[in-house]
Amino acid sequence: MLPVVWLKEEWAGLLEIFLPPVCPLCSKSLVGMVQKGFCADCRAGMPPLTPPCCPRCALPYPTASGSDHLCEECLRRPPPFLWTAAAGIYDGELRRAIRHFKFNGAFHLDGALAELLREALTVRLDSFAPQLLVPVPLHPSRLRQRSFNQALLLARHLGRHCHIAVAPRLLQRVRATPPQPGLSVEERRRNLRQAFALGRPLTGERVLLIDDVMTTGATARACAEVLRAGGAAEVAVAVLGRAQRQQL
Ligand SMILES: [Zn+2]
Ligand SMILES: [Zn+2]
Repeated sequence: MLPVVWLKEEWAGLLEIFLPPVCPLCSKSLVGMVQKGFCADCRAGMPPLTPPCCPRCALPYPTASGSDHLCEECLRRPPPFLWTAAAGIYDGELRRAIRHFKFNGAFHLDGALAELLREALTVRLDSFAPQLLVPVPLHPSRLRQRSFNQALLLARHLGRHCHIAVAPRLLQRVRATPPQPGLSVEERRRNLRQAFALGRPLTGERVLLIDDVMTTGATARACAEVLRAGGAAEVAVAVLGRAQRQQL
C-alpha cells in the first residue's frame, strides 16, 4: 500500500494537469468548480450534524429544536474523552462514501473525507490544540484483510494539513474483536475490554483520537481509557460519521 500512497501524494499535482478533477464518489467532472473533494450533489446528500446533540459523544437528537445536552449514556457514565467532533450523520452519501472507502479499498477517497473532518474540527482545534493524532488501530489480522487502516489514512491527512504529529503505532489492538454491528452496548463493552494497549507511555499530551464512524462510542471509550491510563492529559475524538440512535 505504501508505494501507492506515496505515488498519490507526490504526483497528485502533476496528474491534475493531465487528468481533469472529478468527484471521487460519483466521478462527476469538477472542472471549473471552486470546491475540491466531493461535488456539490454528493455534499448535498451528506447530512450535517446539526444541534441539538450530545456535547460529549455528538449523539444527534431527532428534534430540530432545543440546545445541546448530555445524552443518557454520557450522564450515566461520563466518557473518558472531552468531546466528539463529527463531519456529519452516518447516513446518505456520507455513509456510502465511508463504506466504499473502508470496505471496497477506495482509498482515493481519503483526501476528500479528511477534508470534511478538518472542516468539522476547525474551531475545536484552536482551543484544544492537540499534540498527537492517534488513529483507532485495526487488529493485525483485520489489517491483513483490508490492507490499510482507514483511520490512519485520515489521521495522516489531518496531520499534514493541520501540522500535528501522527502517532500511528502508539495505540495497538492486542486482541481481535468480532465486528461490532448488531451487538448491545454491554456486549460491545465486554468485547472491547483489554482489546487495546499503548506501545509507549505518554507524558501529559492532549490527544485527538481519529476514527471513521462512532456508533455507540464503545470503541472510543475503550481507546480513550487506555490513552488516559497511559499518561494522556486529555483526549478528544474526531470521526467522519456519527450514527443516530435508531441505527444501533
Ligand atoms: Zn459527486
Ligand atoms: Zn453522549
